[in-house]
Amino acid sequence: MSAVIIDGKALSAKIRASIAERTTELKRRGKEVTLAVVLVGEDPASEIYVRNKIKVCGELGIRSLSYRLPADTAEVEVASLISRLNADKTVDGILVQSPLPKGLNEQKLLATVDPGKDADGFHSVNAGNLFLGRPAITACTPAGIIELIKSTGVPIAGKHAVVIGRSNIVGKPAAILLLNENATVTICHSRTPDLALHTRRADILVAAVGRARMITGDMIKPGAILIDVGMNRGGGKLCGDIDFDSASAVAGFITPVPGGVGPMTITMLLSNTVAIAERQTTNDK
Ligand code: NDP
Repeated sequence: MSAVIIDGKALSAKIRASIAERTTELKRRGKEVTLAVVLVGEDPASEIYVRNKIKVCGELGIRSLSYRLPADTAEVEVASLISRLNADKTVDGILVQSPLPKGLNEQKLLATVDPGKDADGFHSVNAGNLFLGRPAITACTPAGIIELIKSTGVPIAGKHAVVIGRSNIVGKPAAILLLNENATVTICHSRTPDLALHTRRADILVAAVGRARMITGDMIKPGAILIDVGMNRGGGKLCGDIDFDSASAVAGFITPVPGGVGPMTITMLLSNTVAIAERQTTNDK
C-alpha cells in the first residue's frame, strides 16, 4: 500500500482564499480586519515566524500592526501595550510571539490578552472553553490538524485517535478537539511504556514530539491517517517525527514535512482573526 499524501499547502491555499473573501466582505461593510503582533527581543526563529505572519496578512487583505520591543523591556511596559491593544476597537486579533525573553513572565503576560482577541487561542479561558466543549478560539496548530484529517473525507467519529505529545499548544488541545469530534482518544508522552503498542492501534495518529523519524512503518496500523506535526532540523534538512518512507508504505494517508501541518498553522491564525472580526461586527449591530 502507498499512502495518499495530505497536501497541507493545497488545503491551506483553499482556506486562505475563503479568508480573503471574508476579509473583502468585511471591508465592504466598513471593517478592516486587523491583527496586532507583539515581538519582544530578537529571537531569530520568532523574527522569521512574525515576518511570515505579516506577509500572509498582506496577501489576504488583513491589516497587521507590528510592535517590536527590545529584549530588556520591563514586564509592566509589555502589559501596558497589551492593555492598549485590548482597548483599541480597531484591533481584532492580538498575538504575543512566544517565546518571550527570560525575565518576562510569559504565562502572566499571555493572561492579560483579552480572551476575545486571543488569535493564538492560548489564553486559559479559550483552553478552558475548548475543554468544556464550548465555543472557543482554538489553538492554531491543533485546529489545522483537524482540518487536515477532515480533508481525507474519513469520518473522525468512532475512530481510535492516538496523540503523541501533551504540550499545551499542540498535544493536549489536539486530543481534546479529537475527543470533541467523537474519536476515542489515547494520549502518549515521554513516560508511556511501549509506545508502539498504542500507535499500532491508531486509526488516526498525531505525532507532536520533536524527535526526528521516531515513528516507523512497523509502528503503524495499515490504512491509518498519519499527521506529522514534528519539525526537526538535522543536517540542514527539515523532517518530521514520522519516518515518511517506511510509514507511507503502510498508512492510508500521511502529511509530509514540510508541506503538511506547517502551512496550516498561519492559516488557522488568520482564520481565527477574521472570525473574531466577524463576531465583533455582528455584536456591534
Ligand atoms: P514539546 O516539547 O512542548 O512537547 C513534546 C511532547 O512530546 C511532550 O509532551 C513529551 O512528553 C513528548 N515526548 C518526548 N519524548 C517522547 C518519547 N520518546 N515518546 C513519547 N512522547 C515523547 O513540543 P511541542 O508540542 O511544542 O511541539 C512538538 C513538535 O511539533 C516539535 O517538533 C515542534 O517543532 C513541532 N511544532 C510544529 C508546529 C507546526 O506548525 N508545524 C507548531 C508547533 C510545534 P512529556 O510531556 O512527558 O515531556
